[in-house]
Amino acid sequence: MPPTNSSSTNSLPQVNTQVLLAGRPVGMPTQENFHIVQTPLPEATPGKVLCRTIYLSLDPYMRGRMNAGRSYVEPVEVGQVMCGSTVGQVVALGPAGQESTGKMPVPLTGGTAVPQLRQGDLVLGYGGWQEYFLAEPGSLRKLDPAQGKLSWALGVLGMPGMTAYVGMLDIGQPKAGQTVVVSAAAGAVGSVAGQIAKLKGCRVVGSAGSDEKCQVVTGEFGFDACFNYKTTRPFAGLKKNCPSGIDVYFDNVGGVMLEAALRLINVGARIPLIGLISQYNATEFLPGPNLTPVLVRRATIKGMIVSDHADRQGDFLRDMSGWLREGKIRCRETIVDGLANAPRAFLGLFSGENVGKLLVKVGDDPTAH
Ligand code: NDP
Repeated sequence: MPPTNSSSTNSLPQVNTQVLLAGRPVGMPTQENFHIVQTPLPEATPGKVLCRTIYLSLDPYMRGRMNAGRSYVEPVEVGQVMCGSTVGQVVALGPAGQESTGKMPVPLTGGTAVPQLRQGDLVLGYGGWQEYFLAEPGSLRKLDPAQGKLSWALGVLGMPGMTAYVGMLDIGQPKAGQTVVVSAAAGAVGSVAGQIAKLKGCRVVGSAGSDEKCQVVTGEFGFDACFNYKTTRPFAGLKKNCPSGIDVYFDNVGGVMLEAALRLINVGARIPLIGLISQYNATEFLPGPNLTPVLVRRATIKGMIVSDHADRQGDFLRDMSGWLREGKIRCRETIVDGLANAPRAFLGLFSGENVGKLLVKVGDDPTAH
């Protein structure tokens, strides 16, 4: 379907709604850490394009950006617009707006880099928590709605999907018949990672924070088993479901799950360390797990940041698009309506309110009608 030209500069509003970082959280963030403001709509200046946001991705890494210290990228400053990947639509071109020297601030998988953009083009970008944003064309990637739902560019065909792909295949290296464990198995990354391991012929066990999520993980995503880590102690849940031990532990959460999984790893196990969400709101240093099994069983723990793996993007998009088309990978999204609800929805990532990829629908999706 060709992109619609639903917005023209004449019909643009006067104001832009933005969500700013109001203050740095200590521990669990609250709604008071965010401030919603209305500012004048920016004008497309020379070399830039004005985009309206359709979908905003909410991701656990944003919690780290709210802290003062640099992690692997710079933090958001207090008073700045919260950062985030977006699917949007070009609504205005600045004078000579096609030229670009812009660099992408985060890995944007999917879409095509094009030197020229037109009004109405649908684009993947890093617009942040706001209804409209200015961007250099080189920081945007043009999306083709024929490749799948627009929102998938932020989920299964985007950064979380690629994290699952590289983390599972390149670091986890699952072999048919082996046992693979995935934590946060109902989430954006975990749900895809486990399905990839199933495609490789593994026994796949998940953990998730409610019985309902566990049912989705086994029923919809096809894992062999899933246990609720809030009602079953992680070691007991893993021991029961992994009678042959664990060959790959794809870790999204760290903490007690990592500790429990390490106790059950087999010789030569691989542990892609993808996320540590159980520690993102910690206010004091948490003692680490006992690493004796890593040594004794010659296991490999490897941290991974998806932005280091741009060379795998072509393979990822080819394989994941094919698996989606063939119905071999299924994906879920939790879509919250309206930018004003972004702070509350973001907090829900840390209490497990989402199933699959968490997104905010900020504006009309012209392909969804
Ligand atoms: P999810 O969609 O999985 O959402 C987060 C989920 O984490 C929640 O729904 C919740 O599920 C679970 N969770 C929250 N708090 C805790 C806790 N204290 N202990 C255990 N589980 C918890 O998010 P993503 O799929 O986007 O991200 C998953 C992980 O992958 C995160 O750690 C993230 O930082 C990491 N990541 C890493 C990347 C990389 O390049 N290394 C790239 C992208 C993501 P439940 O109800 O099951 O508890």
